[in-house]
Amino acid sequence: MAFEGLAERLQSTIKKITGKGKVSEQDIKEMSREIRLALLEADVNFKVVKDLINRIKERAVGQEVMESLTPGQQVIKIVRDELTELMGGENSKIAVADRPPTVIMMVGLQGAGKTTTTGKLANLLRKKHNRKPLLVACDVYRPAAIQQLETLGTQLNMPVFSLGTEANPVDIAKQAMDKAKEEHHDYVIIDTAGRLHVDSDLMNELAEIKAAVSPDEIFLVVDAMTGQDAVNVAESFNEQLDITGVVLTKLDGDTRGGAALSIKAVTDKPIKFAGMGEKLDQLEAFHPERMASRILG
Ligand code: GDP
Repeated sequence: MAFEGLAERLQSTIKKITGKGKVSEQDIKEMSREIRLALLEADVNFKVVKDLINRIKERAVGQEVMESLTPGQQVIKIVRDELTELMGGENSKIAVADRPPTVIMMVGLQGAGKTTTTGKLANLLRKKHNRKPLLVACDVYRPAAIQQLETLGTQLNMPVFSLGTEANPVDIAKQAMDKAKEEHHDYVIIDTAGRLHVDSDLMNELAEIKAAVSPDEIFLVVDAMTGQDAVNVAESFNEQLDITGVVLTKLDGDTRGGAALSIKAVTDKPIKFAGMGEKLDQLEAFHPERMASRILG
């Protein structure tokens, strides 16, 4: 289960303080130290941990605790609030363009789950919002990528726009826009190429596609299992493309929590969705508060 180790450690730390009728500064210090170690062990970004612990300490030794009737509970509430805040507010809305179609560009490294998430997002847009998306196959490098998207399109009974592997991805994206307008699609979801590592060729191509179609959303898909690597990837993509949100995949696995807890603080971009499995209906809105509750029990 995701966050298992972190949850266990934080819950045992918190148990020590929950029932206390009086909380001393020493108690707060001890708790902060344990939380800090648990977070670092879960691969949360060092600076993020430091800032978080400072905020918790500052608030926990402050008046809101000292004047409370249940100081232990009050401290826990602070930890919960701060963890929630760390993962960002509630923010799983998808932009709607003034003039359709709304364009969503999916970016990320190979294997992160980009193509799968493209299908999942299309499914969600149709099911929940009654939209009519056009999927666009712009990954012309990975041999099976177009085929994979076409298979998803067939499963979903949704059209996929492709010009094969010889066409230029920028041209594909532009032509897809014309097609979407002609056929009255209200969303265009562009599956772009990924690489094994962030490189300048990839970024240049993505920047060109962005310039050509002016996307309303750029969703970065990252694999939650990759911890701080995911955070570094998010930082690079955000610097180069100014992404609008993150989709964290494989949260159904036993990820330690580092990516989920660091990405928002490092990039200041919200995690909008969570991938919870390989199936097309396993994409969920990301709820920071629920995540915090899962971690703290
Ligand atoms: P891409 O290279 O980024 O387009 O990645 P793919 O969409 O091909 O996904 C890579 C692998 O991850 C595939 O086997 C997917 O089924 C799997 N995958 C994607 N999202 C999730 C998820 O949320 N949970 C799990 N368990 N597997 C996922």
